[in-house]
Formats: sequence, structure tokens, C-alpha cells
Amino acid sequence: MKPKPVLNIPNQLKKGKTMDAQVKKFMDYVVAKNPSERAFHQAVQEVAETIIPFLEENPKYKAAKVFERMIEPERVVIFRIPWVDDKGEFQVNRGFRIEMNSAIGPYKGGMRFHPTVDLGVLKFLAFEQVFKNSLTSLPLGGGKGGSDFDPKGKSDNEVMRFCQSLMTELTRHIGPDTDVPAGDIGVGGREIGYMFGQYKRIKNEFTGVFTGKGLEYGGSLIRPQATGYGTVYFAQEMLATINEEIRGKTVSISGSGNVAQYATEKVIEFGGKVVTLSDSNGYIYDQDGIDTEKLEYVMNLKNVKRGRIREYADHFGCKYVEGVSRPWMEKCDIALPCATENEVNEEEAKELVKNGCICVSEGANMPSTPEAVEVFLDNKILYGPGKAANAGGVATSGLEMSQNSLRLSWTREEVDQRLHNIMINIHKTCVEHGKEGDFINYVKGSNIGGFVKVADAMMAQGAV
Ligand code: NDP
Repeated sequence: MKPKPVLNIPNQLKKGKTMDAQVKKFMDYVVAKNPSERAFHQAVQEVAETIIPFLEENPKYKAAKVFERMIEPERVVIFRIPWVDDKGEFQVNRGFRIEMNSAIGPYKGGMRFHPTVDLGVLKFLAFEQVFKNSLTSLPLGGGKGGSDFDPKGKSDNEVMRFCQSLMTELTRHIGPDTDVPAGDIGVGGREIGYMFGQYKRIKNEFTGVFTGKGLEYGGSLIRPQATGYGTVYFAQEMLATINEEIRGKTVSISGSGNVAQYATEKVIEFGGKVVTLSDSNGYIYDQDGIDTEKLEYVMNLKNVKRGRIREYADHFGCKYVEGVSRPWMEKCDIALPCATENEVNEEEAKELVKNGCICVSEGANMPSTPEAVEVFLDNKILYGPGKAANAGGVATSGLEMSQNSLRLSWTREEVDQRLHNIMINIHKTCVEHGKEGDFINYVKGSNIGGFVKVADAMMAQGAV
């Protein structure tokens, strides 16, 4: 059955207690200037709530209107993607690339192929990417792109023709020193291969214009694993601040794609028990835990057979809940949302806390609604927002770019060690900027930590 795409964006901005007058005034301006881009409003508001008070304490940024400039993309490209399906019929999709901020490096961020993709979704992702990339401490600007194309149910040849048509236009806007895309939802090794191939063919040059490439043509070891591994490394750092660890803990994970799969792998390695995975049709609950052999089954099911997570329950005989793609009503110690935006709401956040969850580390981008975030902060559990917790993916993309420039390949151990160190350092930055007495507010820590480097670079470069 073809899953129905869901756009999980709330209809209105949060009217929570933290929405003070200055934030409201700023958000009125954002909404008026970018009508109907609800996901973008949500992402900006989440940052505005911590950055606007910070600007009051640091008036130099306010005078230079740095934050107002940061919410305006440097460039947006929107284009037509015509292609022909296997029946010989014409199809047309819309393509986007948001070049958000290049103050500290070339635009960098993934491509998403999903029917819910629109300008607002990609602007939210590009905006978050600017902060995330800054946190990695690597020289990476922020961007994001994609299309409303749905790869589900398409043949390999259809996906190839679509990717080639997309790249025929996108080629003129990107380059190894300009804008370097990567994968995201619906864009994995297959899609990156097709897009990279078409770029190379048109430009007649072999350059590191994409990350997440296959190992045979310039990819980095550990890049596919990096987002999931990094999310677990970040959880481990957060847990260490309260003298806890992953070993022995029950972990709920949503999604069953790239990020979810490798988060599961790392939790197993660290001695935790993963009990849930999901897709847009439903979730599985395996009380015995997903072990290495069962994870291998999931990887084959999702990456090769391109099947549904229900088949896991049929195969291993565990519980499956059809029609509910969020497993948060199940009891767990640690939750790793790894599917999509706004997949944890207020009620689910309350249920997680009530059931004893002590740590949420976000593999996905903006998976918790603003109300859910408020529940986590009010209850002072360890809450690692996506722009910090899932930065391992783009960090390793940065390492792939370095290897491409050096024309060298580092070993698996070397890349993993660098990734691990980057996640430890991102955690330190969050602690530095987010400490409130005994509590670490990682939302504040990641927003301010990410903001300062980009803001200083923008100030130094003048009105560009
Ligand atoms: P994949 O396409 O590999 O997997 C996405 C998973 O989430 C699938 O199981 C998919 O189910 C599910 N999903 C997607 N959309 C929805 C929806 N609207 N409702 C319910 N389930 C949904 O993507 P990734 O694993 O790469 O990305 C997952 C998240 O991680 C995204 O938020 C992405 O932005 C973020 N991220 C990814 C990075 C990366 O390196 N790949 C880096 C940083 C963040 P189904 O197959 O049924 O659609």
C-alpha cells in the first residue's frame, strides 16, 4: 500500500509562556515576510527565543542586524524537473536549492525527496543547517534542497531519469567551492550516485561536489553511519553529565531509514536494548530487543528490498501497530527520534517523561514540537536538539570534503575517531553556552554556540 504523506506542521505558532513581546514582534515580521512557510516560522521562533535575549546582552550584533540577515537566504533557486516514467508518460516535479548562508564556508546541506517538500520545509532545514554546521567547527556554510518527488514505488530507471533531469539544472548552481549537497530523506547512495554522475558528465570534471558518495568514487568511510552514530555519541555525552550510560538502557527509536539504522547499530554496540523502529505506515515493538542479526534484516528490508517495517513483525513475530508511526507511548529510558519533523507532540512528550525517559537525542531535524520541547525542559530531562545531536552527518561530510581535497582516504577508525571528537566538542560548546545552574539547556547552548561564529564572520565581512 502506498503510504499517505503527512505534513506534521502545526497550524499556528506556539503561544507558549516563553513567547515574550520582543520575540513576538520579531516573529510577526518573519510571518509577514514569509507567509505560509509554517515550518520555517517554527524553526526561526525556536532560535529567536534564545537569540533575542542574547542580542540584548550583545548589542553589536543587534546594531548590524545580523539575525535579520540570517533569516534571509542568500539565494533561492526553484526549477522545473521534467522526466519520463517507465510507461513513457511525461511527469513534472519541482526542484529547490536554498543557499542560506556562506559566511563560514560553501553552502552545505542535504537534498530531500519527499512529497511534503516545499519552500517552507527546505527553508527551515537550511536555517537549522547554518547553526548545525557552525557547531561542527568545520568551515561549512548552510544550505538545503530537494524536490516533491516521491522515490517510493519508482523503478531504479525512473529514479535515475529524475535525478539526471534535476542535476541538468542544479549543476549550474553548485560546485565544490560553492555549494556541496548530500543526502536526506529519500536520498541515499543510489540517488547521490545518479546525481553525481550527471554533474560529472555535464561539467566534464571529477570534483567533490557531493558528499555521501560511494566509496569507489570519493566517498568517506563512516559517512553513511555518521548521523546515527553521532546521535548516540551525543546521548552518551549527555548521560555522562548525570553519571549514567547507555549500557543496560531500553531505547525507543523512530524511523527505519539511514539515521535510525545506524543509531540502532551504535546503541547495540554500547550495550543498550532498542525495542522500536517505525516507518510512515506503523511501528514495531520488539520486547527482546533488536540484535545485530535482526538489524541486518532491517537493513536488507529497507535498503535493498525497499519493503515496509511491518514485515519485521511478520518475520520475527513481535508486536506491530498499524497506522501509528510514532512509538512514544512505549516505555523507554532513552528516546531517539530519527524519522522526520514534528513527530513528538506534547502528549507524547508527557508520556515519555511519565514512563521514566531520562534522555532524548534527536537524530531527525526538529522532530519535537515546541510544546514537546517545553515539556522536556520543564521536567529537566536531558534533551539534545537535532542541530547539535545530529550534526555528526554533516561533520563527516566535511571530513569527506577534506579527503577529496587531499585526494586521500582515511581509515574507518580515523574517521570514526574524528566524528566522535567532534560530537564531544559540540557537547562541550552546548554546555558552555547552555549551563543554567545544575541544568544544561541544550536548546540555548546549541543556538548561541552555533550563532556566534557565523555572526562574527558576517560582521567581519560587512554588508554582503
Ligand atoms: P530516510 O529516508 O533514510 O528514512 C526516513 C525514515 O523516516 C523512514 O523510515 C521513513 O518512513 C520515515 N518517515 C519519513 N517521513 C515520514 C513522515 N512524514 N511520517 C512518518 N515517517 C516518516 O531518511 P534519513 O534517515 O536520512 O533522515 C531521517 C531524519 O534525519 C530526517 O529528519 C533528516 O532530515 C534527518 N537527518 C538526516 C541526515 C543524514 O545524514 N541522512 C543528517 C541529519 C539529519 P517511510 O520509508 O515510510 O517514508
